[in-house]
Amino acid sequence: MRPLVAEIRLAHLRHNYRVLKEMHGQNLLAVVKADAYGHGAVQCAKALDDMADGFAVAFLEEAVTLRENGIKSPILLLEGVFEPHEYALVEQYGLWTVIHQQTQLEDCLAHDWKQPATVWLKMDSGMHRAGFFPHNYAAAYHALQQSPKIGKIVKMTHFACADDAERGMTEMQIDTFDTACEGLGGDSSLANSAAILAYPEARREWGRAGLALYGVSPFAAGAGCFEADLKPVMRVASQVFAERVLQPHEPIGYGASFYTKRSTRVGLVACGYADGYPRNAPTDTPVFINGMRSRLIGRASMDMLTVDLSHVPADSAYEVELFGDSVSINELAQSAGHIPYEILCHIKRMRRVYQA
Ligand SMILES: *Cc1c(COP(=O)(O)O)cnc(C)c1O
Repeated sequence: MRPLVAEIRLAHLRHNYRVLKEMHGQNLLAVVKADAYGHGAVQCAKALDDMADGFAVAFLEEAVTLRENGIKSPILLLEGVFEPHEYALVEQYGLWTVIHQQTQLEDCLAHDWKQPATVWLKMDSGMHRAGFFPHNYAAAYHALQQSPKIGKIVKMTHFACADDAERGMTEMQIDTFDTACEGLGGDSSLANSAAILAYPEARREWGRAGLALYGVSPFAAGAGCFEADLKPVMRVASQVFAERVLQPHEPIGYGASFYTKRSTRVGLVACGYADGYPRNAPTDTPVFINGMRSRLIGRASMDMLTVDLSHVPADSAYEVELFGDSVSINELAQSAGHIPYEILCHIKRMRRVYQA
């Protein structure tokens, strides 16, 4: 069997949820969209179902998958519905939904709700991607509030730059949100992972933790997780399945992008870009081999990649950690010019091994 595995440590996930909930205070949604950032939405939601205040996914189909697999906690649709008839399914599956634009609001009020609906009304406080403009927000809120079909309204907004403490944009968004919400009752939800970690003033009744829940830092430098005692949930590891010694000045791999400088022991590792390892990770990208730091040499191919064994003591087997504990995903992302979100979402084809 091919030795490449993604180990998913569910105890770390539960630990991270506890840490983030404690830090945020009050309620915390566990964001499990995009198959829980590549970790497996059903397994992750099952591991958290008895402790989470709720889950968040991007759209209806993701939520239905969770319900059909026995997930009982509240589930919020972060993008709301795409078509008016989906409100019937929102009701059938007992979901909460975001309303970020006027057509969604009208369709929601037109639906024949049998139980009062819980909706999250989204404001565009400055990101300019989705949400009601601040000057239209109170009107939208009142339209919902006045309808007997609507039960609870949670006011929400999303930050553009919470991972960047320098810019002042998050403070501005908080201020815009608070000003436009003056006099509107009920709960609020502002903070994603970066804001939970870095902006205490954004911690309100409901947090929404994605990346940090998986023990990965939302900050470019990879800061914030170690300090907060968050533990990486995914560890991707494989093995060297062939070994050779190359003489000095020999090329390796596609594009002959790397030439040996000296006699070099090269290990061939079962992991490639078809598994989601970033193809543009350059030579010198860190890997961990039998407990020692080493490096990628040459370009990653579709099914395999090559590593430098020169400084690794000869052994009968070599375990290679591509990322996880010793090589953080932030380090890999930085080396490859990616963000950790994208690398996690691209993980595929490898076996996932769940550890309680
Ligand atoms: C994805 C998402 C989150 C989670 O963001 P992280 O940075 O992963 O914590 C929170 N809120 C909204 C609206 C989202 O779309």
